[in-house]
Amino acid sequence: MYHGKFAGLTPCEGEIRMRVLVIEDEPGVASFVKKGLREASYTVDLVDNGIDGLHRAITETYDAVVLDLMLPGLDGFSILRELRSRDIRTPVICLTARDAVDDRIKGLDLGADDYLAKPFSFSELLARMRALLRRGHDLHANPIIVADLKVDVLARSVHRGDRRIDLSPNEYALLEYFVRHKCQVLSRTMILEHVWDMNQDPMTNVIDVHINRLRKKIDNGFDSRLIHTIRGVGYVLRHDET
Ligand code: CA
Repeated sequence: MYHGKFAGLTPCEGEIRMRVLVIEDEPGVASFVKKGLREASYTVDLVDNGIDGLHRAITETYDAVVLDLMLPGLDGFSILRELRSRDIRTPVICLTARDAVDDRIKGLDLGADDYLAKPFSFSELLARMRALLRRGHDLHANPIIVADLKVDVLARSVHRGDRRIDLSPNEYALLEYFVRHKCQVLSRTMILEHVWDMNQDPMTNVIDVHINRLRKKIDNGFDSRLIHTIRGVGYVLRHDET
């Protein structure tokens, strides 16, 4: 579904267009965003209040939501909270006032994916939107494949080549975090925060122990290693072409 211009290709005939819900009550901003997105080949639904906005976001399917925070009826924070509590993961870009740092933090905490401070340029909104849709694509890709490693995040099954690899829940969580951030160096602190919950032992050597176990299962007996130690920094999962 995420193809065409997002993959750097020419949009084809009959291509499914990206559908965006814009929830914004200021007529000037709303029409500017709507016009721009339409010109960029998005399908746009515009709603000027929070209650209708939430209703639309829940009952219809969108690829992204552009959400103003100050809205009549129901504010943007409440909309975000409600969407995420219903496990609706549609990417959301919040529109905030220029100096409203607290609003941005609150928005991100409630599950917004990005924000733009008003006034913003349309090209910036478009760039953020593209980044979000790419990220959304990566997040929803299943299975995740790195070289001959295949991680099915729905079935929670792992294969390398033809071999099925059985992992403990902690090892699996660790591996999923690695493959979702392939080629990105992950520090022990990042791994600790993302994979272990706060009630577990916060000792960082726990991570090294688990990574070594995971590495044995994933890399031992195969031609190339996927999990690499970056001395003094952390770990990275990547396939080095040799
Ligand atoms: Ca507003």
